[in-house]
Amino acid sequence: MCLHTALTKPQKPQTYAERHDPRSAKHTILYSVTKGHLTALSTRCQSAKLIAMERTSGTYRFNTLDPQCVPHAVFTRQGGVSTGAYSALNVGFHVGDREEAVRENHTRIQHQLGVAALRWVKQVHGAQVAHIVDGHQPAEPIAADGMITTAAGIGLLMRFADCVPIILYDPVRHVLGMAHAGWRGTVAGVAPAVVQAMGHTFGSDPADIIAGIGPAICGACYEVGPEVTTALREALGPAAEPALLPPPDPDGRPHVDLPAANRIALEGAGVQHIEVAGICTATSTGEFYSHRAEAGHTGRFAVVAALA
Ligand SMILES: [Zn+2]
Repeated sequence: MCLHTALTKPQKPQTYAERHDPRSAKHTILYSVTKGHLTALSTRCQSAKLIAMERTSGTYRFNTLDPQCVPHAVFTRQGGVSTGAYSALNVGFHVGDREEAVRENHTRIQHQLGVAALRWVKQVHGAQVAHIVDGHQPAEPIAADGMITTAAGIGLLMRFADCVPIILYDPVRHVLGMAHAGWRGTVAGVAPAVVQAMGHTFGSDPADIIAGIGPAICGACYEVGPEVTTALREALGPAAEPALLPPPDPDGRPHVDLPAANRIALEGAGVQHIEVAGICTATSTGEFYSHRAEAGHTGRFAVVAALA
């Protein structure tokens, strides 16, 4: 039973893992828990270093989001009917997979999560937020990269292959939000836009919101051009620095820790309770699709959340 109550208590500061390999020019991962949320600073792949999420029956879920209140799952690529590069639980309609396979995968996801309907949007790397009021999925989806709802039993579904999935839940007012943040969406401020939409539309206080940042490409794997770091600096200001990583070698290009950039953006919007999955999609292609690691020839995995 969902009681819509207990916020997770802030944990006391604690270092989770700190390692340094002197044979490598790369730095190590440093994870710590401060002010009740996980902080990840790394120039090395995060995969399998810290699982803040819990894996059950082919999916992951966030420890801080009560499944009695927010049935939710990060689906892996396992358990679907798609084949080849799309194997197996691909939910991307426009990546070259067979449409009937993608539809069957949606049906499996809906049944596994036990929701009355699934709703999705056309993800366009912007910061528009769609207010979902019912389970009717229009044939031509709304263009948006955020969704909010107070409707029970409707699974908000978004698709990912390296971009950052974010689930947002206000347990005080029982409001759900979700965001899809690649670097363009991060620069556009999609995660704070969802927080603001939850506030404007339903009265959510950012301090009450619990955020879960899901599997995405990590800072060590995400090499970018200087236009990306410039845009993130302009969007986030000095707070962006922990997410902007130096080139691993002197002639290299900069790297960006997109999950960290979104944590920073959420903190800037007043969100205090943030769980970061710490799972890298680019080095976990057995479990997740990765646009970067699979050179664009791949599917999309689903992140789905609903209100009980
Ligand atoms: Zn990685």
